[in-house]
Amino acid sequence: LRSELDNVERLTLVGQMAAGITHEIRNPMAVVRGFLQLMREKSPGELDSYYQIVMDELDRANAIINDFLSLAQTRVSDKEMVQLHLIVEELSPLIWADANLRGQSIELRLNPSLLLLMLNVREIKQLVLNLARNGMEAMDPKGVLTLETRVNEDRVELMIKDTGGGISTSQIENLFVPFFTTKNHGTGLGLSLCLSIAERHNGKIAVESQEGVGTVFTVSFPFEKEENAATTRLLK
Ligand code: ADP
Ligand code: MG
Repeated sequence: LRSELDNVERLTLVGQMAAGITHEIRNPMAVVRGFLQLMREKSPGELDSYYQIVMDELDRANAIINDFLSLAQTRVSDKEMVQLHLIVEELSPLIWADANLRGQSIELRLNPSLLLLMLNVREIKQLVLNLARNGMEAMDPKGVLTLETRVNEDRVELMIKDTGGGISTSQIENLFVPFFTTKNHGTGLGLSLCLSIAERHNGKIAVESQEGVGTVFTVSFPFEKEENAATTRLLK
């Protein structure tokens, strides 16, 4: 079978399997969650702490399943010609609301670039949200998250900068390893997902971090010279 399938077909198959398994696991989990809720209503208060642990773990398992499903999904198609700063702009109310709940602030420096990129908008939004959430989770309530887009030579870049605790040198190597997390309720799949989305778009992710100062994640995509010929001529 293997020799008859190319890479894309194999990935699609993995995606389909993941969707099937997800469904099979989610159903019993939902049943367990429902009965737990009923049991708590009928049981005395001393079980509350046990109840909370079981609920948290169920929710964590659910989060892992969701992230894993996104990771296994490969859609090479539905890409469109779009401008990166517009995607970030569209997302900004969501990020702003999230930051607001944490008492943090957001700074947008979206330098409008006419350059067009071939992107799957849904996936790029997922990537930006994951990086923004990591930034927010690393900061205390006084933190500032800066989102900046710009053109750098033949690439369009998005920088996501936080004023959080930073990442130690020993941890930086493990950031993109699936399931690596330093958080109590983390899945450790966020950055793996970001990397796989970036790679599907010929993009790169770079990290710069200083402990006690903060972290900058830079996502960059090459732009097609031919498709942007008119724009680049205009800019000269
Ligand atoms: P999760 O957020 O579920 O832990 P991720 O893959 O998104 O999983 O991140 C992996 C780990 O990388 C985090 O647990 C954290 O230790 C570290 N990390 C990621 N982004 C940042 C950041 N902006 N600042 C500090 N640490 C970070
Ligand atoms: Mg994360």
